[in-house]
Amino acid sequence: MALRLYNTLSGQVEEVAPRPGQPLGIYACGPTVYDYGHIGNFRTFVHVDILRRFLKQQGVPLRHVMNITDVDDKIMRNAAAAGLPIGDYTAKYEKAFLEDLHALGIEQPEFLARATEHIPQMVGLIEQLVERGYAYRGENGSYYFRIASFPGYGKLSKKDLAGMEDGARVDVDEYDKDSARDFALWKAAKPNEFHWDTSLGAGRPGWHIECSAMATEYLGDSFDLHIGGEDLMFPHHENEIAQSESASGKTFARHWMHVRFLLVEGKKMSKSLGNFYTLRDLLLRGYKASAIRFLLTSVPYRNQLNFTFDGLTESTNAVERLRNFKLRLKRFFLIPQGLDPKLAEIAHVASRKFTDSLSNDLNTAEARAAIFDMVRDANIAFDKRKDNRVHQENIMLIQDVLEKFDAVFDVLEDRDDAVTRFALEWAEREHRMDQAAPELAARYSLSDNAIEGLIAERDKARKARDFARADAIRNELAAKEILLEDSPDGVRWRRK
Ligand code: AMP
Ligand code: ZN
Repeated sequence: MALRLYNTLSGQVEEVAPRPGQPLGIYACGPTVYDYGHIGNFRTFVHVDILRRFLKQQGVPLRHVMNITDVDDKIMRNAAAAGLPIGDYTAKYEKAFLEDLHALGIEQPEFLARATEHIPQMVGLIEQLVERGYAYRGENGSYYFRIASFPGYGKLSKKDLAGMEDGARVDVDEYDKDSARDFALWKAAKPNEFHWDTSLGAGRPGWHIECSAMATEYLGDSFDLHIGGEDLMFPHHENEIAQSESASGKTFARHWMHVRFLLVEGKKMSKSLGNFYTLRDLLLRGYKASAIRFLLTSVPYRNQLNFTFDGLTESTNAVERLRNFKLRLKRFFLIPQGLDPKLAEIAHVASRKFTDSLSNDLNTAEARAAIFDMVRDANIAFDKRKDNRVHQENIMLIQDVLEKFDAVFDVLEDRDDAVTRFALEWAEREHRMDQAAPELAARYSLSDNAIEGLIAERDKARKARDFARADAIRNELAAKEILLEDSPDGVRWRRK
């Protein structure tokens, strides 16, 4: 099954496939580690993860690179304000980012590339551009890319550059979406500013050259697929193309995928609107990591996602429904021989639709719908059976589909408790416990060990027929939203 994706460059949905005998080369722009990641960032990273997991499921070998932007304007400014070397300033946020990836079940790519560890490659690329006449040194000692020298400028974002001023320059990393300017490749150090001493002089790289240099380092001059959020299309990706294609004379990335933005209650996320959420904000409010991950995939990547708290609650329920269904499959008496063809068909249809939907421009909404249809139809079929007997083969077929779904969506295994506990421990260390929902703090005020100790004590009390004590312990746990389930194999507990 071939994967087809919309290519921003061509404006068409096209097949994405590796060159014969090669892994698929993917470069996905990573985070700028100057603060904690917000849920919009993670919408993009979760979609990259869904794509990555689906390609692996289809047997495509990957060579996936993600950069960590650990030097740029914002980092320079914040580190200086904090009185820290930039490495000390970014280390905390890089660690937090990797923890957040883990919390959301996002796999790490084959290569994580830090910008500060590739300065010689960036300097080399700039020198090549200067030699070939695509870049020049300004009187301030900074180097700029001359966009008038690259006729393809604008081909990704489809910008009409007719009114462009030749030689107008811009020094900041992020700039006006409506104007094209010669942009800085290398920024000469101002007095007392953190810098590298290089053949270009004392300074630091611009943001755009970082990605060009690192993509080429790991994937060569030409590679298969480049990904980022929609805001990166211009100027960031346009500039990457200009730099890389001018230097190599070859097509940079063949395919460009842009993930559209996450909005919050219909608005752009911003601190001033009070609708700006990091992953940790949501975890501290008591939302589960699995529900957040699942919500981020509810709308296909080519449409904007409107994040709402109602949506997050629905997503929590949807994950719960899937987990309950998975448990239900374990509760039947199994008929060893034969199979029910109608029930088998339900599994086959779901499996086919799941793969077709993801192959068709990564349509996560339809892929999810295929699974929910299976859950509904199988539940109806199960409800009709009075004797609670189902063919073993049918159960296995359905389980296979759930596994196939979860290899991509990764929400069935319950790791939520561990993630919430992690977030609370972080909040405690960072003196942010005031942000945690009070019932959450209460619920986690007992450690796993303390809970297991109380359960053992209750067990002893029951054996000694001290039911008053046993009930008191059960009630104490219930008050902290810890539920006990007595089963033949012993007592299981979970946080509500
Ligand atoms: P940054 O750390 O700002 O460089 O962004 C990391 C990634 O998140 C980039 O691919 C951005 O395009 C993406 N991104 C930023 N804001 C949003 C948003 N609101 N929705 C989706 N993706 C976003
Ligand atoms: Zn980039």
